[in-house]
Parts: sequence; structure tokens; C-alpha cells
Amino acid sequence: PTMAHSRALLVLENFIGGKFVPCSSYIDSYNPSTGDVYCRVPDSGKEEVEAAVKAAKDAFPIWSSKSPLERSQILNKLADLIEHDLEAFAQAESKDQGKTITFARTVDIPRAVHNFRFFASSILHHVTECTEMPAMGCVHYTSRAPVGVAGLISPWNLPLYLLTWKIAPAIACGNTVVAKPSEMTSVTAWMMCKLLEKAGMPPGVVNVVLGTGAKAGEALVCHPEVPLISFTGSTLTAQRITEKSAPHCKRLSLELGGKNPSIIFDDADLSQCIPTTVRSSFANQGEICLCTSRIFVQRGIYSEFLKRFVAEAKKWKTGNPSDPTIDMGALISKEHLEKVVRNYVKKAQAEGARVLCGEGVDPLALPPGNQKGYFMLPTVIAEVKDESCCMQEEIFGPVTCVVAFDTEEEVIKRANGVKYGLAATVWSSNVGRVHRVAHKLQSGLVWTNCWLVRDLNLPFGGMKASGVGREGAKDSYEFFTEVKTITIKH
Ligand code: NAD
Repeated sequence: PTMAHSRALLVLENFIGGKFVPCSSYIDSYNPSTGDVYCRVPDSGKEEVEAAVKAAKDAFPIWSSKSPLERSQILNKLADLIEHDLEAFAQAESKDQGKTITFARTVDIPRAVHNFRFFASSILHHVTECTEMPAMGCVHYTSRAPVGVAGLISPWNLPLYLLTWKIAPAIACGNTVVAKPSEMTSVTAWMMCKLLEKAGMPPGVVNVVLGTGAKAGEALVCHPEVPLISFTGSTLTAQRITEKSAPHCKRLSLELGGKNPSIIFDDADLSQCIPTTVRSSFANQGEICLCTSRIFVQRGIYSEFLKRFVAEAKKWKTGNPSDPTIDMGALISKEHLEKVVRNYVKKAQAEGARVLCGEGVDPLALPPGNQKGYFMLPTVIAEVKDESCCMQEEIFGPVTCVVAFDTEEEVIKRANGVKYGLAATVWSSNVGRVHRVAHKLQSGLVWTNCWLVRDLNLPFGGMKASGVGREGAKDSYEFFTEVKTITIKH
């Protein structure tokens, strides 16, 4: 690029051992709402990962020997600093990812702040177990210690939110980290690095290496001195990570995709259910692993539901993400938009399904500056078969399928009839039924009469192809520490 060209672009750097370090090559990063290249992201590989792992290893003895309270104070300070810059972080996240400024302001960045505060507090409250064997004259207890250098790999849909959900527990427990955010959304991680020194974080505790999964991600996964990998992303990538890390017997936490059902019984309160299900289908452009994409509606209320649901979905405004009145922004990339439209919406139509609103049905009017952005409307598909790819594969876009069912037993079987098992939603006013159905669903999370209400204390994660392991106060603590059983004879 010419000097003038490169000056106009935002150029990111890796953060290694407390210092920003330029890279020898870069990747273009696009603004999804305009289609313009606006940022250059380091294209790191083995060499950069090696330097970051070394910095993290060097920082480990000091960081791991700090008291939980000392670490807690630094995490709280970092939370305050991010909160102080909340608006700048929200603007950056919206520009980088395509999500609405409203979502970034109210969900992404507040949650990133909360992740640090939550683990700053929770680390102070863990106790270990102790048992006695009087007949043997023995007492046993367990002790937990940080593991070492943690490799953290995160996706593009909730960039800072998901990255900090890993960084916070890892460092709270006394590990040091090498984090690799998605190459498509690296800006807010880089911005966070600028605050670390002021928060009092010793150099080398948090290192951020930017680059692609194939180069930087895989170098981290294959590094012999990174004993644990916490990964959030697609099931396909998780399979590759499992394979690549197998020779080193690494500890893995895998938070993967979903094909989440919403089951709506005929006694559901539709005035609550319909707006919530529109939100659960289309929030963040449908780019949340927990988004609903299969809606099973009991036959008696099917046509009424469909009519009201489509009317509500049509109210959602798609457009410039920086306009605070907009409900849906741009999808992450041109390729992703094409995949959602071609592999799912068009394919469903070819199979005989009906697109009731959205893509290809309604006009999409965009402001002049957004004509080249990666936009599509909230799309509702009906009369689609359970075997169809739209009902089996994770779409990860603003597309949801609505189908009818008759009995409880039938819907449980159909809801479980996919390879995934992340999150399910059940709508009914029959308390016995909601418990019964929740127990039978193959799903790591089940919400009844609500969606995305989270208590970070509790386990989060998926069954089947949706993941291995759980994250949460206790679960993350267990993942990021190594337990030892010690026996003393007195
Ligand atoms: P992805 O798997 O393509 O990438 C995720 C991360 O892994 C990125 O940082 C990427 O660079 C890296 N990566 C890619 N190949 C790699 C390799 N060979 N070795 C090491 N790292 C590699 O996923 P994505 O497209 O960024 O994110 C979307 C997916 O994430 C969806 O499937 C979604 O459901 C899932 N997700 C799951 C959760 C959850 O908590 N369960 C949350 C959000 C997103």
C-alpha cells in the first residue's frame, strides 16, 4: 500500500511481554457494514507465538505466587479502566464486527467488564476439600494450583466478551496467558492491552498474538509448553485442535456450535414468547452460539404463532449499525453472508420450504454508505423437513425455521435429533411439563419461558458436538487449576 493508504488504516500490533510489537506481515480486516478494508491485523505465526509463550512462562513464577487478593485487585482495576472507556470499546466492536452499537454498548462491553469483576470476586471464595481417616491416623486434603501458560482462542461473534470470559478466570487462578482472538475481530483485544500496565498487570501475564487460526492458532495449540487450551468456536475447528493437541495430552475446554430448539406448547404465554423468540433468533444477526434456529410450535397454535411471529420479525430494522435505532447490523463477512444465503435460504427454497419474510422476499433498503455492507433481513422459513440442512446444520445467521408438532414425546425426539446439544428453550405454563421436558432434552442449557438469562456461577457449555467441558465460577476454576490430593499421617 502507498503511504497515504497505510496511514489511513488502523494497524494493530501483537502484545508480548508487556510491549506492543509489530509483525512482519499483516492481514486486511474489513468493516462489515461498509465492505471497506479499514484495519491491518498481524499475520503472526510460530515465531510470534514462541516469543509470547516465553514471556508468559517468564511471568508465571511471580504471578502465580501472588495472593488471590492481589490478583483480584488488578482484575478489578482493569474492569474499571475498560468501563471508563466503554463507549470507545463499543464503537470499535461495532465497527469491527458489524453488530449494532446498541448491542455492543449494552451487551458486549458491559459483559467484558463484568467478566473481570466476577472472577476478581469468585477467586476469593474457593475452598478445597479435607477428609479424615481416624482409624489410619490420616488426614487428606486437596490443594489447587495454577497450571502454567494457558492458550486461549476465541471467535468473532462476541469478540471481547468471549475473550475476557477466558482471560479473567485464567489469570485470576494464577496462570499466565497467550490469547488469540479471531483474525476478523482483533481490535478490542488490542485496545484492552493498552490498559494492562495502568491496571498494574505485570508484563507477560497477558500476551495477545494476532493472526489466523491456521498459522497463529495452530502454533499455540501445538506448542509443547502450553498445557491447556480453552477454545470457543466451531465444531470443525475443535476437531482439528483435538487432533493437533493429542500428542501433547493437553487439557482442552471446547465451547462449540449449536442448533438450538425452542419448543412452544399450546399453553405458552405468546405475548412473552413471541418477542423473546424473535430476539433469540435474530439478536446479534443470529451470530450467537445460543441463538434459536429451530422453532417447534404445537399444532393448535401453529398458524396464530406464525402470523404473529412473522409480523414481529418484520418490525426489526436492519441497517447502519452505528444508528442506535437499528435492531440488526451486518454479518461478519462477505463469504459468511453468501454462505447463509446460498447454502441455507436458497437451498431451503429449492427443497420446497417457504420463506415467509426476509431474504429474497422483502426489499432491503440500505443507507448510501452501507450499500456494500454484508446485510440481510431477519428471515423466517416454514414447511421445512427435519432432515433438511436448515434444520440440521448451524447457520449462524439471521435465519430461523418454524415447524409444527403434536405431542410432547414427539417434540423431544425431534429436538434431540441433531448432532448438537448447546441450548434449548421451552415455553409452557405447565410446571410439571417444563421440568419433564428440560430433563429429557440433550442440551447443556435449558431455558424455560425466557432466553439468555445467565448466572455466571453456573456451568455453561454444550453436550454432543456442542462441546467438551463447562465454564463458570467453579468449572473455570477447576479447568484452570491442577488439583493435588495430599495425605498426612499423624
Ligand atoms: P472458528 O472455529 O472458525 O474460529 C474460532 C477461533 O479459532 C478463531 O480465533 C480462529 O482463528 C481459530 N482457529 C481456526 N482454525 C484453527 C486451528 N486450526 N487451530 C487453532 N485455532 C484455529 O469459529 P468462528 O467462525 O470464529 O466462530 C463461530 C463459531 O463459534 C460457531 O460455530 C459458534 O457456534 C461458535 N461459538 C460457540 C460458543 C459457545 O460458547 N459454545 C460461543 C460463540 C461462538
